[in-house]
Amino acid sequence: MRLGRVESFVSTNLGHVAGVSEPYVTLPSVPYLAPPGSATAGSLYIDGRWREARNGRVREILNPADGSVLTIVSEGGRADTEDAIAAARRAFDSGEWRRVSEDERGRLLDRIADLLQRDREEIAVMESLDTGKTIEEGRIDVDDVTDVFRYYAGLAGKDAGRLVSAPEGVHSKVVYEPVGVCGMITPWNYPLLQLSWKMAPALAAGNTMVVKPSEITPVTTAKLVELTTEAGVPAGVVNLVTGSGPDAGAPLSEHPDVDLISFTGGLATGRRIMAAASETVKKIALELGGKNPNIIFPDVDLDTAVDYALAAAFFHSGQVCSAGARLIVHNDIHDAFTTELARRAEAIRVGRGQDQDVRCGPLVSAEHRAKVEAAVARGVEEGARIIAGGRRPDDPDLAQGYFYRPTVFVDCERSMDIVQDEVFGPVVTVERFETERQAIELGNDTDYGLSGGVWTNDTARGERVAAALRHGTIWINDFGPYFPGAEWGGYGRSGIGRELGPAGLDEYREAKHVYRNLAPEPQRWFG
Ligand code: NDP
Repeated sequence: MRLGRVESFVSTNLGHVAGVSEPYVTLPSVPYLAPPGSATAGSLYIDGRWREARNGRVREILNPADGSVLTIVSEGGRADTEDAIAAARRAFDSGEWRRVSEDERGRLLDRIADLLQRDREEIAVMESLDTGKTIEEGRIDVDDVTDVFRYYAGLAGKDAGRLVSAPEGVHSKVVYEPVGVCGMITPWNYPLLQLSWKMAPALAAGNTMVVKPSEITPVTTAKLVELTTEAGVPAGVVNLVTGSGPDAGAPLSEHPDVDLISFTGGLATGRRIMAAASETVKKIALELGGKNPNIIFPDVDLDTAVDYALAAAFFHSGQVCSAGARLIVHNDIHDAFTTELARRAEAIRVGRGQDQDVRCGPLVSAEHRAKVEAAVARGVEEGARIIAGGRRPDDPDLAQGYFYRPTVFVDCERSMDIVQDEVFGPVVTVERFETERQAIELGNDTDYGLSGGVWTNDTARGERVAAALRHGTIWINDFGPYFPGAEWGGYGRSGIGRELGPAGLDEYREAKHVYRNLAPEPQRWFG
């Protein structure tokens, strides 16, 4: 998600072989990832043990760059998720994990961060092969995830509660306790990163958990679970079930022994999870994406604004909940801005995430590309005009992968589906505005409210627009960066609750008020 931190693509353990279309960077050999063709796989981690699914089923995980089989994992189902919930419940109820001091839990998180850095290159390659993102983006993810673990390592033990002002003879305090068993359901675009936002604070607060990654991108989740064990997190505290949403995920939101559900993914699934969780009145945190406005005033440097707009829209091929997919550009610079945007979008190198100089890797799956293509077709039908992309790349070497070229739409109206719906692909729309008020109206004209950007050299105007936009994060003269210490989450249909920052820890804590009467005497309430 962080944009801008770019390192050179030099690596000792990867070799670029020109013209070779077979996967030439492979996954490491680890017991929980079975090689292609295997009939069995043991990628479930329950009660401190890697094991197969009860029904023995497996799933092929595909490389989105060419459709080849990357690895085989277990296809867990309801019975496996129930096993994992039972393990997490036992680990929580035994009280052992809760009795580990918060300082010690902080040290464990620091150890996980160290291990992430030790295996940085390996994890970056895993994430790149599994999701299609570039290896450079994979490295950025590992560094960001490391920062998240370090941040919550620092917070652990720093806030033991507080004394509350009370009448004489009364002692009153508020203490924090873990919520209990947490279900964590994560999406395919940032499997490692999204999990870290949940797992790190949940561990810091003393919870136990069951993790269910997207069925199509489970690789780095299994790796992170392995690292928690290596760091010394006790058996039963972190459990993993790989499998589909309806089979392995749904039981988490329904089960009475799960106290909290934290979900990142699409709006429709979020609604289903919320409805299912209401039955047992679970605590719930939802991050459901966005359609994020990027407002460009005419006083900015055009070259810089176009540069950032490209990254905002097309980083990780636009498969980012906070992508700047909705440009709102002042009339005075609209034509110059869009001409330059289209020229540079056409020049973006699309290819395997493991190739040098590639900026946009494949979309995550054939199904997802079909959704993006359908959204683009709908945009054309509605009257929006494509000035870049709108097609698959011509390169025959990419024909087997799920690639799509960065696409720019102009002549867009706020009422169009292509402007309102989250496409989650390399597609940006451009609308025009004349006054500051119109820009704000357009920026707020969405059911979502995750993030937005405003570009202007007028400081007061930047602050005014930032204050008026109803989104969880606003960038002024930038788009994309976030910090572990700053809360992340959405207004409106972008979700419920906050991740990161102190509030991200609070999601995983119950506040308990303890009142002590220091000298109880009969109060003659009756008799
Ligand atoms: P989903 O919302 O379907 O998937 C997210 C996670 O929820 C996955 O682990 C999925 O499992 C799981 N899941 C699915 N159904 C259930 C269920 N009934 N109960 C519990 N868990 C469930 O996202 P998609 O992958 O289908 O993407 C759909 C759209 O969502 C995208 O096109 C995009 O618009 C948006 N999206 C938003 C993201 C964000 O960051 N906010 C991230 C990813 C997608 P499984 O994958 O195994 O089925």
